[in-house]
Amino acid sequence: MSVGMKSVTDRLRDSGLLRTQGLIGGKWIDAYDGKTLEVHNPATGEVIANVSCMGGKETKDAISSAFDAFNSWSKLTAAERSKGLRKWYDLLMAHKEELGQLITLEQGKPLKEAVGEVDYGAKFIEFYAEEAKRVYGEIIPATLPDRRLFVLKQPVGVAGAITPWNFPLAMITRKVGPALACGCTVVVKPSEFTPLTALAAAELALQAGIPPGVVNVVMGNAPDIGDALLTSPQVRKITFTGSTAVGKKLMAGAAGTVKKVSLELGGNAPCIVFDDADLNVAVNGALAAKFRNSGQTCVCANRVLVQEGIYEKFADAFSKAVKNLKVGDGFGEGVVQGPLINKAALEKVETFVEDAVSKGAKVLLGGRRHSLGMTFYEPTVLSNVKSEMLVSREEVFGPVAPLLCFKTEEEAIHMANDTNAGLAAYIFTNNLQRTWRVSEALEYGLVGVNEGLISTEVAPFGGVKQSGLGREGSKYGMDEFLEELHLFITDATNLNDLLL
Ligand code: ADP
Repeated sequence: MSVGMKSVTDRLRDSGLLRTQGLIGGKWIDAYDGKTLEVHNPATGEVIANVSCMGGKETKDAISSAFDAFNSWSKLTAAERSKGLRKWYDLLMAHKEELGQLITLEQGKPLKEAVGEVDYGAKFIEFYAEEAKRVYGEIIPATLPDRRLFVLKQPVGVAGAITPWNFPLAMITRKVGPALACGCTVVVKPSEFTPLTALAAAELALQAGIPPGVVNVVMGNAPDIGDALLTSPQVRKITFTGSTAVGKKLMAGAAGTVKKVSLELGGNAPCIVFDDADLNVAVNGALAAKFRNSGQTCVCANRVLVQEGIYEKFADAFSKAVKNLKVGDGFGEGVVQGPLINKAALEKVETFVEDAVSKGAKVLLGGRRHSLGMTFYEPTVLSNVKSEMLVSREEVFGPVAPLLCFKTEEEAIHMANDTNAGLAAYIFTNNLQRTWRVSEALEYGLVGVNEGLISTEVAPFGGVKQSGLGREGSKYGMDEFLEELHLFITDATNLNDLLL
């Protein structure tokens, strides 16, 4: 282990935040068969820790704990739940630096970006601590004079939350925050690539006084854990962020016990630059939308569609900006591009670039593995990209920006919508009428106008078409964990009259 990494892990261990066991019913627990799995630092390949490798049995126990805890947690007042969440938020913020280091260690993103994720992730807990108090019902005007109709909102029950590796903290907090605020309890299954941040966050939840069993964490054999969550009648909700393929499996699996499902799946985000855009704004926006987290987010621009009048100027300025992105270990000074998560991710990026080049794309910048080795890939710009190339059809999930040229607004809208995905889209224009026209014509759940960073805890995040179901963040994120109970009250003294 390198000296730098050792001191970071030592400090994390001293602070009690380097947890390696699963959390079930408030207790840190090994896998029942003692199995462990290695968590690696993608920048160096070094093993950071060995964590419990759990499966169906542990998950069943975690579900039972969550089910028992639901009884009391759901019956607390909203103010009491709110206090617990607020305390958790305070602790996440108090440990911002350590959590950021943990994210950089296991996920690879630059430390500044990792600390930014802690800020962003913690805000979901803060927001939902506030929102817990606003689960209002309704009174519906009754159809007969002696009747009263009410709608009460009630927590759906135990929720299974399955999360990916690209945001080891934020993908968890934006599920667990609203779940707990509503009165649900959770079994979280973080990605096996990045379980350490999840475990540290769970440790802080315990320290915040969130009762045992309200937040449980299991990781290990993903299909076994998934099956246990899907088949349990006690789990009433599955909330998932990850690949479209796994999302479809979970949706099908949830049908067996008719669970509520929300899914945040893959995107294929178009970033459309019109002739009338401000060049600087477009370059900076596209840069942020494309290269954040080395291109490993589901809202990352996957296709940069540029109108012919500005194409050459944009390609030139954008390539210059991309050339300045410093690649390296996320702990390095000034580094803004970390490694890809693993070898499979690297090979996928290579395949996509090779496919594009073999079909006529031109490499303006990069286009190969970085000299740093490991899973580092050079920030890449491709021009002359066509719609039928793999880079246009599927998510590259890496630091590759394919530029496609278009002539008219109609053509741009057609190209942008010509995909099964519908998560994020970006447009750059200074024309107000065009802003509205194009935004409304885009079949996407999120549209950024002259802006490349559009995620915030106060607005609903989610996709249309095969990018998913449901919304996370904002007041709408609460609905995913609530059921509407229709309460019908008849005045008993008049019952006989009614029956006549
Ligand atoms: P990614 O390509 O982003 O890793 P995945 O969909 O493979 O996306 O992974 C997202 C999450 O889903 C991870 O926590 C992973 O372990 C989990 N996962 C993968 N396969 C299954 C499955 N069959 N059942 C339940 N969870 C799964």
